[in-house]
Amino acid sequence: MNSNVALSVVVPIYNEEESLPFLVNQLLEVLQPMEETFELVLVNDGSSDNSAEVIRKLSFDIPELVGVLLRKNYGQTAAMAAGFDISSGEIVVTLDGDLQNDPADIPLLVNKIRDGFDLVSGWRYRRQDAAISRKLPSKIANRLIGKVTGVRLNDYGCSLKAYRKEVLTDMRLYGELHRFLPVLANIEGARITEVKVNHRARQFGSSKYGIDRTFRVLMDLLTVWFMNRFLTRPMYVFGFGGILAIIGSFITSLYLLIIKLLGEDIGNRPLLIFALLLAVTGVQLFGFGLLGELQIRTYHESQNRPIYRIRDTFRGRLET
Ligand code: UDP
Ligand code: MG
Repeated sequence: MNSNVALSVVVPIYNEEESLPFLVNQLLEVLQPMEETFELVLVNDGSSDNSAEVIRKLSFDIPELVGVLLRKNYGQTAAMAAGFDISSGEIVVTLDGDLQNDPADIPLLVNKIRDGFDLVSGWRYRRQDAAISRKLPSKIANRLIGKVTGVRLNDYGCSLKAYRKEVLTDMRLYGELHRFLPVLANIEGARITEVKVNHRARQFGSSKYGIDRTFRVLMDLLTVWFMNRFLTRPMYVFGFGGILAIIGSFITSLYLLIIKLLGEDIGNRPLLIFALLLAVTGVQLFGFGLLGELQIRTYHESQNRPIYRIRDTFRGRLET
């Protein structure tokens, strides 16, 4: 196997037997003149067609090809994670196996990494997919993800992306999380940018996804938001709510006290119950925050997750 290369191209493959020969040809045409050592990692995600066999046959003639055959269909994210784990490139590029991404765009992305970015995401500014079922939900999702996470990209869903290798180490991917890699990388301090890329209509086979994926993506968005906020400081989430509730209870009680001093009977006021409820809720939320802090310490320790990451270090040297 290729020990250490400059560039790894990772492609998840699920029932793409017809596209595969074209894909590999187009990729080689772009990669060979690039003057970088490269490997082409094709991850067969338990295809039920002949993709595995096609990959094996192609590997006879192409020394740069690395085939990974998963035991069953795990989904695109898991297939990509398998590709990341096996690839040795300093730069990792991902794209889809259905020829919708144009390999000719790869040098664009790689140059951006060379410019100093850690993650470069493709933007399919002229996306060739169904408008109502695909493009519209994506547009909404992209806006929402940008707002919630603070990482504003036009096109999270574009598989054509390039990563500096460090960005991908220690990433624990599951579900549909591959599309949130820019968010996860941003949490670790990555420099991120977007470049416009070509997008082509699917030629062979059909899309593996429908509108149901939008729901899963939204649920993953909640998870990522939670990871972003909660995993750093639970107390900031729950403690804030707790203190708000306690302040609310205090103000309500004060109001009740004043009108009691003015001679009113407050014994049967619903507001009294409201004040009590707020007080109890506030204390409980605060308690959740404290418990969360304890929990998160254990979590970080079990994951060996550092609390900081260094990009570079310099040391001055005394002239002698
Ligand atoms: N894919 C995969 N496992 C799956 C579903 C899809 O590896 O369970 C691959 C698929 O072969 C393709 C990429 O993921 O290379 C994106 O899939 P698709 O083109 O169907 O998605 P779309 O472009 O419609 O979003
Ligand atoms: Mg596609």
